Amino acid sequence: MSANFSREELDHWTQEHRVQMIEELKDWVRHPSVSRADLAAPGAPYGPDCRKMLDYALKRGAEEGFDVQNANGYAGSISYGDGAEEIGLVCHLDVVPEGDGWIYAPYDPVETNGFLIGRGIGDNKGSAVASFFLLQYLREHGIKLRHTVRVLLGCAEETGMDDFATYVKEGLGPVPQFSIVADGGFPVNYAQKGGLDFSVSVPGGADLVDMKAGNVRNAIPDKAILTVRNTTADAALAILTAHELTSVKAEAAADGNAVVLTFFGKGGHAAGPENGDNAIVKAARGAGYLAADAGLDLGMIPQIADAFTDYYGGALGIAAEDETSGKLTMNAGVIHSEGDHYRIEADIRFPVSCKGAEIIAAIESNIAGYGMSVITHHIADPFYIDPESSIVKTLMSIYQDITGDTESKSYAMGGGTYSRVVPNAVTFGPGLPNAPKKDFLPEGHGGAHGPDEALNIDAWLTGFRIYVESVIRLDDIL
Ligand SMILES: [Zn+2]
Repeated sequence: MSANFSREELDHWTQEHRVQMIEELKDWVRHPSVSRADLAAPGAPYGPDCRKMLDYALKRGAEEGFDVQNANGYAGSISYGDGAEEIGLVCHLDVVPEGDGWIYAPYDPVETNGFLIGRGIGDNKGSAVASFFLLQYLREHGIKLRHTVRVLLGCAEETGMDDFATYVKEGLGPVPQFSIVADGGFPVNYAQKGGLDFSVSVPGGADLVDMKAGNVRNAIPDKAILTVRNTTADAALAILTAHELTSVKAEAAADGNAVVLTFFGKGGHAAGPENGDNAIVKAARGAGYLAADAGLDLGMIPQIADAFTDYYGGALGIAAEDETSGKLTMNAGVIHSEGDHYRIEADIRFPVSCKGAEIIAAIESNIAGYGMSVITHHIADPFYIDPESSIVKTLMSIYQDITGDTESKSYAMGGGTYSRVVPNAVTFGPGLPNAPKKDFLPEGHGGAHGPDEALNIDAWLTGFRIYVESVIRLDDIL
């Protein structure tokens, strides 16, 4: 441990710089940096707003005298030190769209009730600014580390992490030997399931006019629309009701030549399929009854139910489970017509002990039996670090010492952070399990992606102190 470091002094310095840190964070949040690959331009792969945010962050880094680097607009970094080996702090500058229902202004942050409010204030600009101040703290105290400390700032975390995936794959800049991803919860996240996105082609039939449902693959669709011909609304509904398929609306199409059937399910996140009721699967089951009882030719649509009803993947021969991460889950999130067939966009989360390549190979061979074929797929490897490793133990003890929370354990999760795309990067904070409640805001406000995104200032500064001490200690043990 560096001779120049004391926890009491860090505490004192943090209080002294509280106002300065808050003002810095407010400045960063004034940039509406929604990641927009559809507005890509040279040097701005995620649109002009993200590029402006990145430029601003790097300008601030340079003004404070640090080395800065722009990785072609995909990401950037601010670094301190000249060690050949590096420790990274990985954050993102892009934000989700502000959405509706804000009481406060999304991009003109205010301080109230001990919180700061604004889009991206916690997710994830708070971490970016805290990491920036960490560099300032080290330099101001003359703390010389063996490692260069690099704050890595991505611009497309919220839209699928193409930023650091590209950065790493194309070598757009230095990749630290070890990194902390400051975009989750404390204490240490030691496992994340792998991700497998795939799309499937399903042949339609002579009596199928259209089928559509869903917007994104990682959400359970709550509504699916199946349009068929050669039947009537009453006849179709009678068949579905006879098979106890409920929550269906049937009406004649505008031109009178078809029946529009709307199947209502229950939405939710793809990582928890057991909490929803997938409307695509439900509509496919309905299609099966109409094919069997009314003789409609609906192509292979009924087989969607056979393949996807078991959201743990049994019908596709991919069911798997391990103690660390639980069961493999599968979700058919979107369906729409494409040429003369229908395209399904599906999402799989697989346990850390599985291989994505083996799963997609099994799907490709088994889904043929349902008359479908895989068109595209993309694999994100799982993340795992031994919870008994010295790195995890060190981070846990710093967290416990500073917060006094000895109850919270290191944890596994189904969702993904930059840990899945940046090598040797452990998600650690900044969310505190026991952070003060946001009960001055109405129900449904204050969350990371909701209206009035709120960051508790004291919790944020606690996270800052944990990060400072962690980097200093990691410099010793790495
Ligand atoms: Zn985030």
